Amino acid sequence: MDNTKGIIFNIQRFSVHDGPGIRTVVFEKGCPLRCKWCANPESQIQSPQVAWTKSKCIGCSSCVNSNLKLKPYFSYDELFWENYDDAERDAIDRACPSKALHVIGYETTVDQVLKQIDRDEIFYGDEEGGLTISGGEPLMQPQFTYQLLNAAKDNGINTAIETTGFADAADFIKIAGKLDYLLMDIKTLDDDVHKSVTGVSNEVILNNFKLIKEAYPELPIHVRTPVIPGVNDSEKAISDIADFIRGYSNVRYELLKYHRLGEGKYTSLHRSYMMGEVELNQTLFEGLRKFEFNNISSQLEDEGWQGI
Ligand code: SF4
Repeated sequence: MDNTKGIIFNIQRFSVHDGPGIRTVVFEKGCPLRCKWCANPESQIQSPQVAWTKSKCIGCSSCVNSNLKLKPYFSYDELFWENYDDAERDAIDRACPSKALHVIGYETTVDQVLKQIDRDEIFYGDEEGGLTISGGEPLMQPQFTYQLLNAAKDNGINTAIETTGFADAADFIKIAGKLDYLLMDIKTLDDDVHKSVTGVSNEVILNNFKLIKEAYPELPIHVRTPVIPGVNDSEKAISDIADFIRGYSNVRYELLKYHRLGEGKYTSLHRSYMMGEVELNQTLFEGLRKFEFNNISSQLEDEGWQGI
């Protein structure tokens, strides 16, 4: 039995975008970064929190008329509330018939998560598929993440994490020892830009990348750059990252498209979406993809690395 506790907000089954093969993705809550374009704002604070999805609300006022300490109230057609106490989780769930008012995030244990992963093992295939721990930032709950990966490996399950790389180096190195695959973002090499759009310096991230590669040269690292309008949507920004990863073996590189799919979640949390009305220029993105392939991935393949 492993009762190590962690706080997660979702377990997604049958994912094909979070590492090799078909994977079960466990989303941990809590992230040290505040990327302006974050598509999962509900992942940022570590503790469980209340959200309200306006489109699901039927206006029945059941929540308002309940005796919840949360004290929900309407103002100008929007639902607000006071402080959340996790002891009220079930009562909140019962109070809202349409689940418009709901709690995001819950405490769980390694054993409880493992039981859910066990159901999916049959879909993982012989080697490729498996468990990916994402977030938020999985390295923010190092003990839970380590124990979960360790238990998965003991069960013969392929393991991966998706990380910002912003973490205590010793924790990261210990956890990487339990990985078959590492997905890591490098957003920009320009530290001033990095600080202004994520709230933290990229120094720790870049240093951790080097440390992990030194400690585990064979560990495949899938570096991803979300291409964000006005932040890193230029050949210079992408080639700077290429120059940084060039020289390391077992590295893949991928550009991800900025999207606005998380925008509605900000409304549910009564937060402002920081990207305004900006959209990614598709022609520019396709040009960057070609540039990336010609100047990075094709060379990675030439040098025996894996391009994508
Ligand atoms: S109980 Fe749910 S559906 Fe009814 S008013 Fe409150 S949030 Fe809306």
